[in-house]
Amino acid sequence: STPVATFCALLRAARMGLLVKGGNVLESLGEVRVAAFDKTGTITRGEFSIKDFLVVRDKVQMSQLLYWVSSIESKSSHPMAAALVEYAQSKSIQPKPEDVTETCIYHGEGIYGAINGKHIYIGNERIMARSSCRQQAGHRETDGLKGVSVGLVICDGDLVGKFSLSDTCRTGAAEAILQLRSMGIKSVMLTGDSEAAAKHAQEQLGGVLEELHSGLLPEDKVRLIRGLQARHGATLMVGDGMNDAPALAAADVGVSMGLSGSAAAIETSHATLMSGDVLRVPKAVRLGRRTRRTIA
Ligand code: ADP
Ligand code: MG
Repeated sequence: STPVATFCALLRAARMGLLVKGGNVLESLGEVRVAAFDKTGTITRGEFSIKDFLVVRDKVQMSQLLYWVSSIESKSSHPMAAALVEYAQSKSIQPKPEDVTETCIYHGEGIYGAINGKHIYIGNERIMARSSCRQQAGHRETDGLKGVSVGLVICDGDLVGKFSLSDTCRTGAAEAILQLRSMGIKSVMLTGDSEAAAKHAQEQLGGVLEELHSGLLPEDKVRLIRGLQARHGATLMVGDGMNDAPALAAADVGVSMGLSGSAAAIETSHATLMSGDVLRVPKAVRLGRRTRRTIA
């Protein structure tokens, strides 16, 4: 391959807002047969709004619950955390991260924090199991909530609160997937969020995705990437979160979201999109295909 052609292609990629770590990445982009998209922050904006926030146990007051949740979530960079902190502030509760003495982040599950001697878990049904919550399983707990993504709050083994949130798809997401399809590339969704949230996003997109996989842990995303590689060949992964980092590394081409993406995703990916404009994904694949022809 001629270094000049590769260099020109890298410059062209940079001009379209895609920072590529090396010329071979563009060539690989040109070979992609299937694309896997993370949901939160990739297909969607990653800007959640709280639809419901409910106290489950009478013993606990709403102000107390919001203080615990917002203080602990202040320690998290998850898109849901920002929404919860903002929600508490809108109810005049100031988070006090300095009161949180211990935290642990569980990717694909939620967060644990110790505050005022209380042990609090916030997250999905997986965190409920981890917290050894005295109530059985999360089902039914989420009935009647308005948002499609659901969260639970467990304090010292008791379910004390629940909330629901919604997020919207990025403009251009459906169009990007349609363009990929017209290029012979099928698109699938890999998300740690619930099945309801995955289906909701698919509906917003007009049903353009060919497969939905929900409730995934970071290692599940890697397993699914390996499956796509085995079945279809060169696989593209687009993601933003820390939970996407292993899948981005496992893919033939991992593309991270630069503006909102986590440092881990940007580091392990092969290329970074400098804006939230996912239409640049099919554009980059077209550039990759042209690059392959030029240097062949
Ligand atoms: P995605 O793959 O859609 O980007 P994540 O793996 O980041 O999702 O998160 C999966 C799920 O874990 C979320 O939908 C949420 O239920 C839960 N979760 C993760 N982090 C948090 C947090 N800080 N607060 C509450 N819930 C969380
Ligand atoms: Mg994400």
